[in-house]
Amino acid sequence: IRSKLPDVGTTIFTVMSRLAVEHKAVNLGQGFPDFNPDPRLLKLVDKAMADGHNQYPYMPGVASLREAIATKTKALYGHAYDPETEITVTSGATEALMATVMAAVGPGDEVIVIEPCFDSYLPAIRLAGATAVPVPLRAPTGTDPYYRIDWQRVRDAITPKSRLLMLNFPHNPTGAILDESDLDALEKIVRDTGILLVSDEVYEHIVFDGKPHASLARRPLLAEHTFVISSFGKTYHTTGWKIGYCCAPRQLSLELRKVHQFMVFTVSSPMQFALAEFMKDPQPYMDLPAFYQAKRDRLSEGLAKTRFKPLPSPGTFFLMADYSAISDLPEADFSRWLTVDHGVTVIPISAFYQRPDAPESNHRLVRFCFAKRDETLDAALEKLQRV
Ligand code: PMP
Ligand code: GLN
Repeated sequence: IRSKLPDVGTTIFTVMSRLAVEHKAVNLGQGFPDFNPDPRLLKLVDKAMADGHNQYPYMPGVASLREAIATKTKALYGHAYDPETEITVTSGATEALMATVMAAVGPGDEVIVIEPCFDSYLPAIRLAGATAVPVPLRAPTGTDPYYRIDWQRVRDAITPKSRLLMLNFPHNPTGAILDESDLDALEKIVRDTGILLVSDEVYEHIVFDGKPHASLARRPLLAEHTFVISSFGKTYHTTGWKIGYCCAPRQLSLELRKVHQFMVFTVSSPMQFALAEFMKDPQPYMDLPAFYQAKRDRLSEGLAKTRFKPLPSPGTFFLMADYSAISDLPEADFSRWLTVDHGVTVIPISAFYQRPDAPESNHRLVRFCFAKRDETLDAALEKLQRV
């Protein structure tokens, strides 16, 4: 077989989780909770199965779930998506991203991504035959502790071939978030260029320090040009269910569904019914920022007592830490060493770059996931004291 992705290996998340199991390490690498979802949600799945929801659901998703998503999106971000034509339930955000890219771009098109970026974006763009154009996120400066988009660099990257700009805020792996001024800048770009947007908002409910989530759905002009993607995995501690969704204007959703129906056709029926019922109560996702902020602070304060230097994380369930006081190994080698020799698994940030081995993709930073029980975080911190 002639490989379409000759230089692509197994995804870093699988590699590091396998290594963690092999070495019985505390796994703060791959982003998944080590605790169960709300028992009420689990009961709703049982009920949906007993009620007979065990066959193919409607291709774009169960009606009650699409309606629940529409209600939530209107309440939080003010945009009314039509559940019949503008909301599609997908097999996780991963499928939504792949189907969107397949539907929206092809050979000759350029897709702008912000680096570091989630590892599925670049292969999706290549499989679609398009070309990725990475724009680096601006690193913290002496006066600003956060990662941010440099909008001038984004504007400079746009050419007549640019079809799509892919964004992901709250941002994996840096935790960066957008604010109103970013939405202003984005509106200007859309007005000037007409470019389409993908907004991967899987961490929409995990924003800290009392800040609102700057969804692109908040601005009518942006909503008109954007595939807004989210995932129940992050919000309800159900990453293994693989249920996500995409909200997009009718014309964009129509094209997305053409791909979706032949990629997976539809997604697990009882889970969709259960989620639709569970979403009627907004409390579980409203409680999420405080729940994860306490874990962020526990990990960050613990790391501050080690030779790692934790960076601030305004959102997601990840934080990055600088290990330059410990080692000058490249990030992938350091991460492997930390698992094998010290029993704690993390993710190298270089894996979020087009060229992971290049010196400019290695900043002696690793990512810690704090979607873990406090005992798990404490067990990891105890080991990290000795590094
Ligand atoms: N996008 C980002 C930024 C992510 O961190 C993840 C992690 N799972 C995904 C997409 C994929 O989500 P899902 O598990 O729902 O496919
Ligand atoms: N989003 C998760 C992470 O960043 C993992 C998803 C995956 O393994 N594909 O760790």
